[in-house]
Amino acid sequence: MAQIYKVNVNTSALKKAGRDTYKENTVIQIGDLKIGGSDVVVIAGPCAVESKEQMLTTAQAVRDSGATILRGGAFKPRSSPYSFQGLEEEGLKILRLTSQITGLPVITEVMDTRQVELVSEYADILQIGSRNMHNMALLKEVGKSSKPVMIKRGMAATIEEFLLAAEYVMANGNEQVILCERGIRTFEPSTRNTLDLNAIPMIKQLTHLPVIVDPSHGTGHWWMVPPLANAAIAVGADGVMIEVHYKPEEALSDGDQSLTPEGFNEMMEGLNKVALAVGKKIASPAMSLV
Ligand code: PEP
Ligand code: MN
Repeated sequence: MAQIYKVNVNTSALKKAGRDTYKENTVIQIGDLKIGGSDVVVIAGPCAVESKEQMLTTAQAVRDSGATILRGGAFKPRSSPYSFQGLEEEGLKILRLTSQITGLPVITEVMDTRQVELVSEYADILQIGSRNMHNMALLKEVGKSSKPVMIKRGMAATIEEFLLAAEYVMANGNEQVILCERGIRTFEPSTRNTLDLNAIPMIKQLTHLPVIVDPSHGTGHWWMVPPLANAAIAVGADGVMIEVHYKPEEALSDGDQSLTPEGFNEMMEGLNKVALAVGKKIASPAMSLV
């Protein structure tokens, strides 16, 4: 991407994340999988790790439909302290086991500086959640990690602040950063958030980092996920992150925005067509062991 168009974003501090620094897109490699290359990456899995059975069933289903990375939270940043908080280290162990069985690399959230070492032992990609995008201590800590980091946009963060969060990680030594647009808070109450698809071409213009879109948290409604996933790829996202649960009505978190494995499979058929229409294809799943 050659020209930087005039925009109302101060890019002077984007010494590593800015387009001025690296003209070529950053491609993050996890085994054979490339994030930010010519293929569309699909991250899928439940909101939270709940059990071995749940993870294995979901992982096998999403892999067979073409997902390339498995998601699942072991440490959950819930709005209420009385809601399910995640299985913590037990959840990380289940994630790792599921990854070994299915061949899918795993992404999971790290909520606190004190968890970075532990989560890094189990995860292939560290996720910084929306609520922690402004946690500079945590950004600095994952900046010292050798694992790729995916930063989710703060729900009230400007694009400039979002990119500065990436700069924090990069300035501390870790240049393997992925950005994730997951919707922002607006005056609109009919959806959980407003998925800001404007952000995708804007971010692509300003940085060389890969950008993923999360239409599950962006909308809060499972039936809105497929059309917004299609739209994300159409506007230039490098991939999508989708919540899938084998029994959404029994999910311990975010069941309303989770697709069933069947719904996910149907979504992938549509996404394939959109990827082809914009000159891309869906990245191939990792080597399956079962
Ligand atoms: C998640 O993806 O697990 C999550 C908690 O999302 P967010 O940080 O975007 O709210
Ligand atoms: Mn969720």
